[in-house]
Amino acid sequence: MRGRFVLGPLVVLAAASCGSDASSTGAHRSAAPQVEPPARTRIVLLGTGTPNADPDRSGPAVAIVVDDTPYLIDLGPGVVRRAAAAYRAGVEGMKVSNLKTAFITHLHTDHTLGYADFVFTPWVLERDAPAEVYGPRGLEAMTGHLLAAYEEDIRVRIDGLEPVNTGGYRVNVHEVEPGLIYEDEKVRVTAFPVEHGSWPQSFGYRFETPDRTIVISGDTRPSPAIAENCRGCDVLIHEVYSQAGFDRRAPEWQRYHSSFHTSAPELGRIAAEAQPGMLILYHQLLWGSTADELVEEIRQVWDGEIVYGNDLEVY
Ligand SMILES: [Zn+2]
Ligand SMILES: [Zn+2]
Repeated sequence: MRGRFVLGPLVVLAAASCGSDASSTGAHRSAAPQVEPPARTRIVLLGTGTPNADPDRSGPAVAIVVDDTPYLIDLGPGVVRRAAAAYRAGVEGMKVSNLKTAFITHLHTDHTLGYADFVFTPWVLERDAPAEVYGPRGLEAMTGHLLAAYEEDIRVRIDGLEPVNTGGYRVNVHEVEPGLIYEDEKVRVTAFPVEHGSWPQSFGYRFETPDRTIVISGDTRPSPAIAENCRGCDVLIHEVYSQAGFDRRAPEWQRYHSSFHTSAPELGRIAAEAQPGMLILYHQLLWGSTADELVEEIRQVWDGEIVYGNDLEVY
C-alpha cells in the first residue's frame, strides 16, 4: 500500500507547538479534507529537532503506534512530555506508562538526552515492566551510567514512603547488529547501518506493520541502505539540511555537515531511487533558509509527496 492517502498531517495535535515556525511551514499543511488514517498504524512526530535548542522542536523522537502500542525511535530531550501531549490530544497509545520499547539510532546527545526521562518518568507513573531498548554498541554502558547516576533517586523511591513498583525502572538493553532485531504480533523491525560521520555504528530502521512499511533514517549522510530498505515503502522519514544554508556555512562546518548529514538535493536523489509513498522531513537544518526553500531544493530533483514535519503531527 502506498502513502498517497495523506495530503498533510492527519492530525496536528497542538497548534501552538510550532510557534514562530508555523508561518514558514504552513504552506506544507494542506487545507484539503483529510481522509481516514490507516487503520492500525500511525506515526507521531514527537520531536523533529536537532541539537539546536529550538523551543518549538523537541529533540529527535518519533513514535510508531500500532493499534495502541507505541514503539519509539530515539529519545531526544522532551520525549516524555511530547508523548503526554499526544496522549492528551487523543492518541491513546501515547499514555506515558505505555512507553516501554525504544529503538536508538545512535548515541549522539540530541537523540538520547531524553533517555533517563524515558526510563524513570514512566516508572514513577506506574509502568511496572522493564523498558526494552535496542540500539548500537555503547548503549549498555550508557544505560548503566544513567542508572548509576540516579541510584539515590531509585533508593529513596523504593525504600521510602512512595508506593512504587520495583521493576519499572529496569532496562533490558539489546545491543544489535544489522538485520531483523525485533518482532512481535504488530511489527517487524530491521536495523540497517547508515553512515554518520565518525560514529562506528549508527542505524536506520525499517518497520513493517500489518498495514504500513516505514523507514526512518536516523542521522546519516547519503547512505545507499536507505533506498535499499525503503524500495517503495509507504513512508520514508529522513533527516535533511538546506543546500543554500550549507553554502553559507564556514568551510570547517561544511566538512562536518557533509560527512554527517544529508543535503536536500542529495535527499531528492535518494527519494527518486527509494520511491516512498510519502517523504517526511525531520531533523531539519535550515541555516537561514525557509522551510519552503528547503522543500523546493528537494522538488528540483524529486516530485513525489513531501511533508515538512513539525512536532506533534500525526501521519
Ligand atoms: Zn541528530
Ligand atoms: Zn547524530
